Parts: sequence; structure tokens; C-alpha cells
Amino acid sequence: MNRILVTGGAGFLGSHLCDRLIADGADVLCVDNFYTGNKANIAPLMGNPYFELMRHDVTFPLYAEVDQIFNLACPASPVHYQFDPVQTTKTNVHGAINMLGLAKRLKARILQASTSEVYGDPEVHPQTEDYWGRVNPIGIRSCYDEGKRCAETLFFDYHRQHQVDIKVVRIFNTYGPRMHPNDGRVVSNFIVQALKGEDITIYGDGQQTRSFCYVDDLIDGLVRMMNSQSSLTGPVNMGNPTEMTMLELAENVLRLTASKARLVFKPLPQDDPKQRQPDIAMAKSQLGWEPKVALVDGLKETIAYFKKIVLV
Ligand code: NAD
Ligand code: UDP
Ligand code: UDP
Repeated sequence: MNRILVTGGAGFLGSHLCDRLIADGADVLCVDNFYTGNKANIAPLMGNPYFELMRHDVTFPLYAEVDQIFNLACPASPVHYQFDPVQTTKTNVHGAINMLGLAKRLKARILQASTSEVYGDPEVHPQTEDYWGRVNPIGIRSCYDEGKRCAETLFFDYHRQHQVDIKVVRIFNTYGPRMHPNDGRVVSNFIVQALKGEDITIYGDGQQTRSFCYVDDLIDGLVRMMNSQSSLTGPVNMGNPTEMTMLELAENVLRLTASKARLVFKPLPQDDPKQRQPDIAMAKSQLGWEPKVALVDGLKETIAYFKKIVLV
């Protein structure tokens, strides 16, 4: 039986990954310090004999015996990663060193959940994996962006220096059930505001773009990448190439929730990227992967989830 460690396994993406791995017949060890994770996300798995939960902070060494490691531990939303930026850098850098040290000792394969933020505010559009990015090293997003860039560096150095079997995936904006209702990300903010009839907060003029991938599509991509041939280290972009402005997203959410909430315009946060769209040609050709869930269908699932937790 495949023993798989998922760090950050009680978070949004991690808990969906644990669900998928258990469904595939793996023995899963979920490690999380509950910084942004939630026990409710993994509650359905708690009675399963092949699911084990360990409360642990990945900035400290971890000794366990596993065959594969998915390294997802790290707060992902700007509100959360900027709350304690030093801890964010430590989680990215010390966490990567510890998990790579573990992978090296065990000769285990390790996958890093990297991010489109390594491209910063990009001058190349859509972003391909060979683009080096345009990142501010001293801004309020840097703890996350530079932390994730340094983690990628560590992954490739452990690969070159210690032959660790690595996989690096650059994840673009992903949404779905179990997003944190207060984490400030745009999809959760707009849905919660629309359901409560509160003002929809558009930052800037709302013309900045993002491309949103539904969680099930992304998880399928991560699993495919983990099980791909060892020569494919990545980095590989994963996301949905359908790009839209934040105003278009707000209009979709208002229509699907039949909400009468008003749009209000707020200042654009510092270093907010103007546009973001993944080029997923590599994932398509190397992994036969591309997103299948249309935005409207994914938003409906996500709205149904938030109705249960917000309107009680
Ligand atoms: P999340 O905040 O819901 O999950 C992160 C999990 O990591 C939480 O359960 C949290 O408690 C845990 N964690 C944080 N610091 C930890 C530490 N030091 N030790 C142990 N556990 C720790 O975020 P998410 O959206 O599920 O993101 C998961 C991963 O995917 C992150 O690494 C994130 O950077 C990456 N990612 C996510 C997106 C996205 O759109 N959701 C995009 C790009 C990259
Ligand atoms: N490490 C870990 N679990 C292990 C092996 C290593 O957490 O099973 C940590 C260890 O604490 C170390 C880090 O991973 O700080 C990097 O390990 P590596 O072997 O690369 O470095 P070294 O031990 O030589 O500093
Ligand atoms: N955004 C917005 N209103 C909100 C939250 C976010 O207009 O209530 C904008 C934000 O400025 C950014 C985009 O939506 O341009 C995506 O923000 P998010 O924090 O979800 O992700 P990221 O900026 O990391 O891509």
C-alpha cells in the first residue's frame, strides 16, 4: 500500500487531496499545525483506518516513514500569509528543507505546491514555465512569493545535489468548497458578500484579471504529476486558462446567487498583479491534463457550500 504524507492536509486543497488519495486506496498521513486549516475539512476521514492526523509544524523536523510526500503546508491567502510574514517565510523555507531532508532519507518522491506568484506581476502573458518572473523582494507579498521561489530553488538543489525525486507544480488561483470564508480571497469574498447581501468589494477598478481553476481539476493534476515519469520534475503550470476581470467574476457571482448586493470600489492592494493566466501546454502534453469544470458549474458547487456554512 502506498503511504503518502500530505503537509497542510487540513487546508482547502490538502483536504481535497486527502479525500482523493484515500479514495484511490492509499494510506494517508495528514500533517498540519491548523494555522489556517480546519478540522471540519478532514472530519469525514477521521474514522477511516487508513487516515492518520498529526498536529505538527513543518518548520520543525519530522520523522515518519512514507513513500510519497505532497508539500502543501503554507497559508495561501494574502490576509493569512501577511498576518505573520516571518512565519510564512519560515514555513516555505524551513518547511521545504525539512520535507526535502525527509524525502532524501527515505528516497521518497516529493511534490511541491508552488504558485503562480513566482511570476509576480508578469510582463509575459500568458505565463509559461520558462518565464523567470517579476517579483518585488521587499514588499508585503514577498514573504510568500520569495518564500515559494526559495522553496523551488531548494527543490532543484536537492534534486541536483542529492538526487531527490522532485515534482514542482505552479498552482494558479484555485477555488471550491472548503475555502476559508474569511481568508479575503476574491471568490470566497464575493460569494459570502452576495449571500449575505453585503456590498461586493471590488479592489481597484476591477479590470485586473485572474483565471480560476475548480479544485477537483487541480487535485487531479497534482495526482497525475506525482505519478508521472521521474524525468518530469517540472515546474509545471496548473490552472484554468479561462481569464476574466474581477468585475466579470462579480457579475457571475451576483447572477448565480440571485443577489441584489451592490458593487463598491476599494483601493487596490500593494503589488496586486494586473493580469494572470496560465499557459498549460506543458501539463497538456506531458500529463494529458486540462481542466474540465466550467466556471459556472464550479461556482454553483462553491455557492452551495457557502450557503451551508454562512447562512446558518
Ligand atoms: P490553506 O491555507 O487552506 O491550507 C494550507 C494548510 O497548511 C493549512 O491547513 C494550514 O494550517 C497548514 N499550514 C500552514 N503553515 C503550516 C506549518 N508551518 N506547518 C504545518 N502546516 C501548516 O491554503 P490552500 O489554498 O489549501 O493552499 C495549499 C497550498 O497550495 C499552499 O502551499 C499554497 O501556497 C498552494 N497554492 C494554493 C493556491 C490556491 O489558489 N488555493 C494557489 C497557488 C498555490
Ligand atoms: N529532516 C527531517 N526528517 C528526516 C530527515 C531530515 O525532518 O527524516 C530534517 C533535518 O532536521 C534537517 C533537514 O531535514 O534539518 C535537512 O536534512 P538534510 O539531510 O538535507 O540536512 P542535514 O541533516 O545534513 O542538515
Ligand atoms: N479582490 C477584489 N475584491 C476582494 C478580494 C480580492 O477585487 O474582495 C481582487 C484582488 O485585488 C486581486 C484578485 O481579486 O486582484 C484576486 O485576489 P486573491 O486574493 O483571491 O488572489 P491573488 O491576488 O493572490 O491572485
